[in-house]
Amino acid sequence: MLYDILLAVGVMVILAIALGLLLAVASKYLEVKVDPRIEAVTAMLPGFNCGACGCAGCADMAASLVKGTKTVISSCKPSKPDARAKIKAYMDKTPGLDGKITEVTI
Ligand code: SF4
Repeated sequence: MLYDILLAVGVMVILAIALGLLLAVASKYLEVKVDPRIEAVTAMLPGFNCGACGCAGCADMAASLVKGTKTVISSCKPSKPDARAKIKAYMDKTPGLDGKITEVTI
């Protein structure tokens, strides 16, 4: 009886360690790298998610600016001039994952 319990616990421990190692390896090789500028620019946008810029929301607008598919910050009509200038300054000095600066205009 005790042997059966110890065997079951041992099998579960070995299984947990094996699956933990598998998850660690998978997270290393299957990791999706997200450009941290997207989150930073999203935080600088008004956050209304109104869609006036033609994007699905502020996070989508930020991603478009970072990827360079949109280059004009004032596409975001509700944003204030100081916020646009802040985004421009940030984008001008912060390279992406590839080490390149994405050009944007106010
Ligand atoms: S127009 Fe501005 S506030 Fe509206 S969704 Fe686009 S980025 Fe967000």
